[in-house]
Formats: sequence, structure tokens, C-alpha cells
Amino acid sequence: MSNQYRRTAFLHEMGLGPIWSQRGAATPQADTEIAMDAAPADVPARQPTVVADTASAWAEQTPTAAVSMHVPVASEVVTITSLADIACMDWTQLKSVVAGCTQCGLCKNRTQTVFGVGDQKAKWLFVGEGPGRNEDFQGEPFVGPAGKLLDNMFGAMGLKRGENTYIANIVKCRPTDASKHDRPPAAEEVAACISYLERQIALIKPTVIVALGKTAAISLLKLDPATPVGKLRGTVHRYADLPLIVTYHPAYLLRNLKDKSKAWADLCLAMQTYADSPSA
Ligand code: SF4
Repeated sequence: MSNQYRRTAFLHEMGLGPIWSQRGAATPQADTEIAMDAAPADVPARQPTVVADTASAWAEQTPTAAVSMHVPVASEVVTITSLADIACMDWTQLKSVVAGCTQCGLCKNRTQTVFGVGDQKAKWLFVGEGPGRNEDFQGEPFVGPAGKLLDNMFGAMGLKRGENTYIANIVKCRPTDASKHDRPPAAEEVAACISYLERQIALIKPTVIVALGKTAAISLLKLDPATPVGKLRGTVHRYADLPLIVTYHPAYLLRNLKDKSKAWADLCLAMQTYADSPSA
């Protein structure tokens, strides 16, 4: 496949194809024009820059003697779970515990927990913020329009949902405000839930992690919540020993078409990082 053909296919999958075709239209939208002009070239030639490691629970953890070691079987209902217990769980145990979790206030308004979906041995892990209305209803992350765009992003990368990809969120229950609208999870909700994701990452052992949006990035990298996504892009971060790339959340991209081209550049960096990985 020629570079030009491959690039065109990528942009089409990212939803940029039709926008490119509008360049000569009589009344193009401002965002469309920006997206066209900013469309990136083929896979960036820049070398990934590695920044400081981030402490995390990625490594297999050994529970201390001071912590309860009860690990539930799938049929048990568990409502209080220590971090050390979580770090020992297999997939079945972890799913069971998450399904019954009441460790933060988000449990009160959920329809169901949204555990994650995909290949449990995936090389690619995509992490979002938390379930929205559709996800809460269906029990799967990234459904609806944002999920469709994420699937298109997968297509642009030669990936497919469920095949060598796993999708999860920082929190497993839908955060809503007083008006029942979606909102980002609060710091204490992230703190209550992040151990589940950390265990998922330890079980999956992905080659590359892609953080979709600010909440995913700052939660995994333990950064100042005021850090804008724009400052995190274009760099290969580290979650423990794993490379982590930051890009925009698909829901944001649906509202900000001009930034799709930046997301494309992020995906190119992720693909380059994957290709350079010895475990790819
Ligand atoms: S968001 Fe996480 S910690 Fe909070 S109740 Fe749901 S599963 Fe438990």
C-alpha cells in the first residue's frame, strides 16, 4: 500500500475524508477549513520522547501480612475490598467485585457497572474517563457516537474493537451531576476506583496504552488536574514501564472537528511507539 493511499485511508476512517472533499465548497465551515489545513503528514518522523516514570500498581503486587487476604470467588458478593486483595484477583474475581462495588457514591445512580471490553491479552489498551448515559445503559464502554468515532480511530490504525484491543475507563460507574448530566469523575471517585483499572492493566500487560482525554491521562500519570491535554500530547509518557500516549477523548473530537488532525498525529505517535516496542 502506498503512503498516499494509506494516509487517505486513515483520514477517511478518522472522518476527515469528507472534510477534505469540502475544500472547494462554496461555504465551508471554519472548523472544516482548519481541519483540512492542519491535516498531518504520514507517520511523524519525530522520535518519541520519554518522560519520567510514574509510580503505579502496574507491577504484580504482593500483599502485606497486615492486609486481609480474602480473595472472593465469582459467586460471592463483595462490597469492601482491600487494594492488596484486588492486586491478587483474576479476571473472574475482578469482574465480580466490580459488579457489586459500593466503594464510592457513584454506585447509587448506576444502572450497572461498566467493566471494560475486549481482548484480555490485547497489545493495545485504550482508557477513557467513565461511562456515559449509553454506556451505563448497555454496560459497555464507548458506545454511541463517541464509540463510533473510536471504532473509526481503530480502523484508521488497522485495529478492531475486541481484536488485540481492550477498552476500559478510569471509573466503572457513570458520574452525573444534579441534573443527571454526565460529568467527569471527582478525585475521590477516581481514587476509589483506579485500583480496578490498575489490576486490569496488570492482567492485560499491553504494549501501548492510549489515554483518551484529560481525566484518563492525569489519573494514570498522577498529574496535576489542571494540566491541559495539549501539554501532554506529542510525548511518550510512562505508566510504570509501559509507554502511554495521550490524545483527545472521542466525545471532545465530536465537538471540535479541527482537533481530529491532532488526534491523528497522536495515533501516528502511538503506532510508531508500538512498532518500536520489542514486545510488539
Ligand atoms: S465507580 Fe468504581 S469505586 Fe465507585 S462504586 Fe463504581 S466500581 Fe466502585
